[in-house]
Amino acid sequence: MKLTEDQKQTLLKRVKELAGSPHKCALCASDEWLVSDIVFQLTEFIDGSFMLVGGAVIPVIPMTCAKCANTLLLNAVTLGIVEPGQPEPETSPASAPADAETPETKQ
Ligand SMILES: [Zn+2]
Repeated sequence: MKLTEDQKQTLLKRVKELAGSPHKCALCASDEWLVSDIVFQLTEFIDGSFMLVGGAVIPVIPMTCAKCANTLLLNAVTLGIVEPGQPEPETSPASAPADAETPETKQ
């Protein structure tokens, strides 16, 4: 899912609020980050099955260090970018709402 201009502004504002500025990379200490304008999704691993039906889904926005490529995955629901349970175009209707727990992204 591509972010709208409003969603991009909200994302950048929330990242600055939460991470501070400049936020240094945990691996190389660079403070140059590339924030994706596309929402990806993590899907639940179910016994080695690659079928995309059922299971939990977490919408995430990658934030990548421009120097070393260390990548943080920001939970789009927790950031207020995506509404919990908002359907994704490519997602099966059988998929669970995107309200799973937030992965730890601070370092
Ligand atoms: Zn880095």
